[in-house]
Formats: sequence, structure tokens, C-alpha cells
Amino acid sequence: MTFKTKTFYSQADLVSHLKAHQPSFYFSSKTSTVIPYDKLDQLLPWKKDNNFYLCDLSKLPPQMDLKENGNLIIKGAVSWEDARNFLRAKGRSLKTSPTEQLALVTAGIATSCTGERCFAFGNMRSQVVRLKYLDYNGEEKELRREDDFTSSSQNLKAYQEDFKSYRGFKNAPYPRFDKAIDLMIGTEGQLGIVTEVEIETTDNSDVTYVFMLLPRWEEDMNPHMEIYHAVQSHRNVIFSCELLDANCMNYLKPDEKLGNNQDVIFLEVKTSDFEEIYGNVLCGLELTSPENVFEIAENKFHHVRAGVPRAIFEVNSQMGVVKVGTDVQVGPDHIVDLLNFYREASKIGVRYCLFGHFGDGHLHFNYMPSKDESARCLAEFEKLYEHVFNWKGSPFAEHGIGLLKQKYIKRFHGENQLKLFHDLKKEHDPYNQFFPQGFMSEAQ
Ligand SMILES: Cc1cc2nc3c(=O)[nH]c(=O)nc-3n(C[C@H](O)[C@H](O)[C@H](O)COP(=O)(O)OP(=O)(O)OC[C@H]3O[C@@H](n4cnc5c(N)ncnc54)[C@H](O)[C@@H]3O)c2cc1C
Repeated sequence: MTFKTKTFYSQADLVSHLKAHQPSFYFSSKTSTVIPYDKLDQLLPWKKDNNFYLCDLSKLPPQMDLKENGNLIIKGAVSWEDARNFLRAKGRSLKTSPTEQLALVTAGIATSCTGERCFAFGNMRSQVVRLKYLDYNGEEKELRREDDFTSSSQNLKAYQEDFKSYRGFKNAPYPRFDKAIDLMIGTEGQLGIVTEVEIETTDNSDVTYVFMLLPRWEEDMNPHMEIYHAVQSHRNVIFSCELLDANCMNYLKPDEKLGNNQDVIFLEVKTSDFEEIYGNVLCGLELTSPENVFEIAENKFHHVRAGVPRAIFEVNSQMGVVKVGTDVQVGPDHIVDLLNFYREASKIGVRYCLFGHFGDGHLHFNYMPSKDESARCLAEFEKLYEHVFNWKGSPFAEHGIGLLKQKYIKRFHGENQLKLFHDLKKEHDPYNQFFPQGFMSEAQ
């Protein structure tokens, strides 16, 4: 297969490429865990003799503007880290905080990204006021959240009806398609290229980070569950509730490790409410002593929290295996079922660790297998997705489907979903030029 690569330094370059209707895969910071960027030649098979383009959006000129009402307008290649620093200098703060801060905000629209602060502020989708995208003719169009989603497809209503059972999740097994902006949110670049977005921000309140040391979840998950229940009604002042288990500590440098063979739950708490949370919530825990609660500096928290998934990615690359991890979110009724499943999965004799957005019931269980062990791990996950389907949970709540999860998502896509994907691809991508190997082409 022939791949050609193109890097865009201006929107005008991108427009002329779009006008040529060349089949392409567009990428930004390449932090997606469901697109194995080092194996694209094997995983993006394309018609022989047909040029296929890998298109780099990460050099588009960045621009940020803060409106008087506190909304942030972002154009081009702006990362979450850039946006956070820009806002901080102006006394504002992001409501979305993905662990990987190097990802681009416009790409976050495409993947419907969420993150740690989703616990308090909801998913990114709920913070998008309006956005712009380039369509298949390179024409820039604007979508606003007050407008409803429209399509000429007869299948929209049935699709929207099915979606209702997943409304409480960060992301369902398929995109929302309820408001006009949803055309670009979670569709992973299969219907157009996001160029601009206006998002809500919040006050830059002082926050205090604490962590609690707990027994290993495999041996006793009751202390974890007590914290899970205790924090739920304080989402207005507890911004995030994250977990790194004891196994994760093996992937940190000696001076970064926390605890002594213990799991760690972190809370990000609004400083003005910290005393109350400490006195009424943390000191009220029966299974975790206040002696096991410690303050941690914000930058150390981010360093440690992001360090674990990055290190695991490295380990997997060194072993020559693609990521073998989950992105499952379940409702409160099934979080113990999920942990019980992971406990069984931990017994197959392959190195593993567990981390994630614990307060939202959204946990990433990762294996670090050798090449020979990889198939065994994937077989465990096939069992898991069957359970997630029956629990009415979300199998891929924030990292998307990309190329790696397509095999597993099929179970969650019925006729109503496939028909609408097919119709939307026809309507918005008539030349099949946007990521033709993506999940929306499943039915073609
Ligand atoms: C350590 C680590 C932690 C992570 N933590 C989180 C987390 O907390 N929350 C979370 O949601 N994700 C997380 N991720 C996943 C990843 O960061 C997100 O999926 C992110 O949104 C991808 O952004 P990117 O710029 O790297 O996009 P890329 O990887 O370059 O692209 C991702 C997808 O978006 C499409 N795309 C990119 N740019 C555009 C555009 N302008 N228009 C249309 N389509 C486009 C691409 O075609 C591709 O399908 C994490 C990843 C890592 C490695």
C-alpha cells in the first residue's frame, strides 16, 4: 500500500487537500490509545494502487481568545496544556482535564474526550457552545449546541431512542447525535475536520489535592467502595476522584511511588470547602483512617497520575504488543461486579494494573503481556465486553474506538446504529475521504 504524508501549516492548505477528495487519515497529537500509530501500515489497509494520505494537523497555527462571558475560543493546534496555562494567567480554569495534556483540544472534540474533572463538570460535550468544521468540499461550517441534530436519514429517531439508555455515561457505545454539535463529537474525524471550538470555562478556584492509602483492591475493595459512595453527593466541590492501584507503583521511579504496596485514591477538592470535606467526609470514613490521608502538590499529582499510563504504553511498545487495556464505565449498580471481574482477570498469570476515574465508575484495567500472552488477555476482555453489554455499561467511555476497538464494539451496534452511520457517511462524506476504515464504515 502507498501512504503519502502531508503536514498542514495553514487552513488554506488543508482546504485544498479536502477539495481533492483524497482518502485520508487526519491526526493531531497522536496520543490516541486506540490508533497504534507505529503500525498504521498494517492496520490501515487500502485499495491497491490508490493513494492514501496521513495528514498532520498538529502544525495548524494556534489561536486562543477568552470572551467576556468566560468562554474560550480555540482555533488550530492548541493542546490542553496550552489552554490551561493561557486560562490560568487570566484567572480561569478548564472544566475538562484529560490525563494526557499534550492532546489537542480540537481532537478532543473528535474523540469526545473527558477526563478527571468530568466528576464535577460532566463531559466535554456538555461544555461545547459551538464549533466549526471543514466538510468534504473544504467549506467551513458552524454548529451550535442550541440547535437540534438534523439528518435526512429515516433512522435518526430509532437511533436516538436507543441512545436514551446510555444517557448517564460519559460516552455511549455510539455517538449521541442529539444536538447539532454532535456531528463532530465522538465521530473520530469520519465526517469532517474540526477547526474551531468555543468551550465553557470555570473560575480558577484554589484546589487542594489529597490522597488516601488503602489496602489492595484484590484483597479488600470495601474501603474503596466506601469512598466511592461518600464522594458522590459532593461533586460540586470535589472536582475529581482518581485511583492508582498498588501495581501501578511499579511503573514509577522510586521517589515518585506512594504508599507501601497500597492502592491510592486521589481527590481534587476546592480549597474553600476542604475543611468541610475533610471533617465531614474523610474523617467520617470507617474503613480509612485520617492518618492515611495526605496532601500532595498539584504538579506531583499530575506527574504521577499521567506517568502511569505513559509508562504502561512504553512497556507495551517495548514488548512489541499493542495496548491491552480497558476503558469501561459502569453505573453504581455494577461497579462491584466490574471490580470482581477484574479480580478474576488478574489471576491469569500476566502482569496487570488498575487505574482510572474511580468516582465515575470508569476504570482502565491494563495487562502488560509478552507477545505470547497477548491472545490470552484479549480473550479475557471478550468475556468482559459480554458482561458490559448485559450490565448496560459503556465499553469505551473516553478513548474512542479508533482501529483497535472495532472488533469489540460490533457487539454494541445494532441495525439502528449501522443504518444511521451508513446514511451519515453518505450525506457528509460522499467521496469516502475521511478515515474510511473507521467504525462508521462497519455497515458498508
Ligand atoms: C497517558 C494517556 C492518558 C490519556 N487520558 C485521557 C483522558 O483522561 N481522557 C480522554 O478522553 N482521553 C485520554 N487519552 C486518550 C487521548 O489523549 C485522547 O483520545 C485525545 O483526545 C486524542 O487527542 P490527539 O490530539 O492526540 O488526537 P490524535 O491521536 O491525533 O487523533 C485521535 C482521533 O481524532 C481524530 N482527529 C484528530 N484531530 C482531529 C480534528 N481536528 N478533526 C477531526 N478529527 C480529528 C483522528 O482522526 C483520530 O481518529 C489518554 C491518552 C494517553 C496516552
